[in-house]
Amino acid sequence: MRTAIFPGSFDPITNGHVDVVVRALSMFDSVIVAVLNNPEKKSMFTLSERVALIQDVFAAEGQRVLAKSFSGLLVDFARSQNASIILRGLRAISDFDYEAQMALMNRSLDPNIETVFLMASEANSYVSSSIVRQVARFGGDVRRLVPARIVEELAKKFPAKK
Ligand code: ADP
Repeated sequence: MRTAIFPGSFDPITNGHVDVVVRALSMFDSVIVAVLNNPEKKSMFTLSERVALIQDVFAAEGQRVLAKSFSGLLVDFARSQNASIILRGLRAISDFDYEAQMALMNRSLDPNIETVFLMASEANSYVSSSIVRQVARFGGDVRRLVPARIVEELAKKFPAKK
């Protein structure tokens, strides 16, 4: 069983994240979408909301995609889940510096865990959780950016102005 861990904030999960998970399922037996518990970062959705929403979005995949929260070092969480792959997405060159730093740091912490990058698909390369939050906050249409389940949740947080 090859399990990949896909760590992030997922505030909220976007079509870009979904695309990475779906493509990863052709390479790995299962993907754990791991939501970082970062009390220092103010989030729109609580940790448990984010985990529950991700689980809803991937309900059809059953045990192949699980959503979990974690705190502390990612490599420790990966080991606890018997996962030897860290999965990350790359949108643009601007993602590269930070991602390279993290991948090298994680390798030095545990050389048995490999980081695998998937290039964002063209259609989603401009999609980020922060763009989604901004568009939703000002009443814009997010239907092309996030799964239907998230559109619903954002509509509850930001009811359309009459
Ligand atoms: P973080 O705070 O760790 O960057 P995010 O939830 O923003 O968490 O992103 C999690 C991962 O998903 C990162 O590897 C990020 O590069 C990737 N990602 C975000 N948006 C997209 C997208 N549109 N297409 C592909 N990968 C993406």
